[in-house]
Amino acid sequence: MPNLVYFEPKALEYPLGEKLFKKFKKENIEIRYTTSHNQVRNLPGENDLQKYRIAKSTLVVGVRKSLKFDTSKPSAEYAIPFATGCMGHCHYCYLQTTMGSKPYVRTYVNVDEILATAQQYIDERAPEITRFEASCTSDVVGIDHLTHSLKQAIEFFGQSDYGRLRFVTKFHHIDHLLDAKHNGKTRFRFSMNNAYVIKHFEPGTSSLKYRIEAAKKVAQAGYPLGFIIAPLYLHQGWENGYQQLFEHLAKELPVETKNGVTFELIQHRFTKPAKRVIEKNYPNTQLELNEEKRRYKWGKYGIGKYIYQKEEETKLQKTITSFIEEYFPNGSIEYFT
Ligand code: SF4
Repeated sequence: MPNLVYFEPKALEYPLGEKLFKKFKKENIEIRYTTSHNQVRNLPGENDLQKYRIAKSTLVVGVRKSLKFDTSKPSAEYAIPFATGCMGHCHYCYLQTTMGSKPYVRTYVNVDEILATAQQYIDERAPEITRFEASCTSDVVGIDHLTHSLKQAIEFFGQSDYGRLRFVTKFHHIDHLLDAKHNGKTRFRFSMNNAYVIKHFEPGTSSLKYRIEAAKKVAQAGYPLGFIIAPLYLHQGWENGYQQLFEHLAKELPVETKNGVTFELIQHRFTKPAKRVIEKNYPNTQLELNEEKRRYKWGKYGIGKYIYQKEEETKLQKTITSFIEEYFPNGSIEYFT
């Protein structure tokens, strides 16, 4: 639940905007108005760190103007935008650099228009399947208990012949999605890590225990299930930590689900700009960000990333793959990067 909410005036012209307005009024949450999210200034807080924290618990309710979807490789063809920003505090979050000085959470109330645009993209490629990723700019599940936009999208794709939806979350607040008519067209993924990594680097998100309980419920609701294990992080005892994670998952999940489960594997990486932002926002982080220990990989727009050394990368990939083969022999690995 946000501590402070901004409304863009146009948002109140949509039923979802109106619904959210009434809800926040009833909950006595401070409401302010803004002509555009870019005008969200003067957030309370005495210094940058406080402002950053307050922004993370501030919600801007607005209208998505640009209905041109970005591409979203390797997990889908397009990114579908329902929200941007996230209330979580993962030290290595990819949003740290992309959201820059505007780390507040935004939700878009013109969901029907966003879905109508998705339909146009689907029609262009039909009869090829078109996949949409809903987690490129946010952990949308974190606010969906308020908006139910994701639920609406799941039911929209449930009726679609050639469209598929996927998203990933670190939150366990998924009960309202369990009865959505998904018809197997949405892949519900959880971002998982071992207990050490979650404890040290993912404040403000759901615990491993809660995520696993939520994944079990999602499996029982018949959704295609997946796990993104990211970032794969080398620390003392990492092999043991990851083995326990897979053991725990395999024990909790229903047998029939384990057969179709997908895994996406992403090793820890950082860019120089990201390192600067992480050290500013989380000055006491124990995250290892030493360029000299890493291998440099050229990236888009000249901003390269630091990934693990080749031997470490190979060991990481082999070890995690062997755990998946052992505990999920009928699961599949979509990619390792
Ligand atoms: Fe970022 Fe995901 Fe953590 Fe939110 S839950 S802060 S989107 S990594």
